Amino acid sequence: MIFELKEKKDKTLEEMYEKAMNELNDFFGIDWIRNIPTIVLWNKRKDYDNLRGKKTEPWERGWQNQRIIYMINRNVMEKESGHKYSREDYFAFLKHELCHSFFMILSNSCSRPLWLNEGVSVYLSNQNKIKKNFVTTFSCFLEYYYQVGEAIYRESGFAVQLLVEKFGKEKLLELIKSLGKVKSEKDFNKQFKEIYGHNPTYTFFNKLLNEQR
Ligand SMILES: [Zn+2]
Repeated sequence: MIFELKEKKDKTLEEMYEKAMNELNDFFGIDWIRNIPTIVLWNKRKDYDNLRGKKTEPWERGWQNQRIIYMINRNVMEKESGHKYSREDYFAFLKHELCHSFFMILSNSCSRPLWLNEGVSVYLSNQNKIKKNFVTTFSCFLEYYYQVGEAIYRESGFAVQLLVEKFGKEKLLELIKSLGKVKSEKDFNKQFKEIYGHNPTYTFFNKLLNEQR
């Protein structure tokens, strides 16, 4: 399939992009200034489906592939996704997708565990607050090592938030950096235990949650 692109000047989006990049460079402790991510906006669900090579769900709005971020144009947000547009929500969405690109750099292109990858994006883009994620018990996010599911967005952002609040961001960055040498879920558990002193289990995360209350 062939698509035709043209450059778009969009001051609002450029400002959001710059703010998100600055904040992410700061968190990840890197200085990504060359070969930075490119934003491609889509306007019609049909085009997005063709890009993805599948029928996407109405709530799906964007996708990151290496350093290209495909995002719904904010002008068609409501029409094509059913989401109401707000600057806060759209900025969070952009930052979420950009965050995946940072994750891939740190992890040496290792996207798994997906719950960790999505959790970092949800947490850093402030979507725990925006989506009013409130977890009383962790019960399913750890199943999402290799695949994505709805629960990943509800629980894993909160799990990552607890890891950062309890143990600091350096340990989280260490964990992400170690993913390049992780070959399996078993390897990951071992690595996690080395850093946090416990296997990544619901018992561990629920304990953090209870200590927080
Ligand atoms: Zn994501």
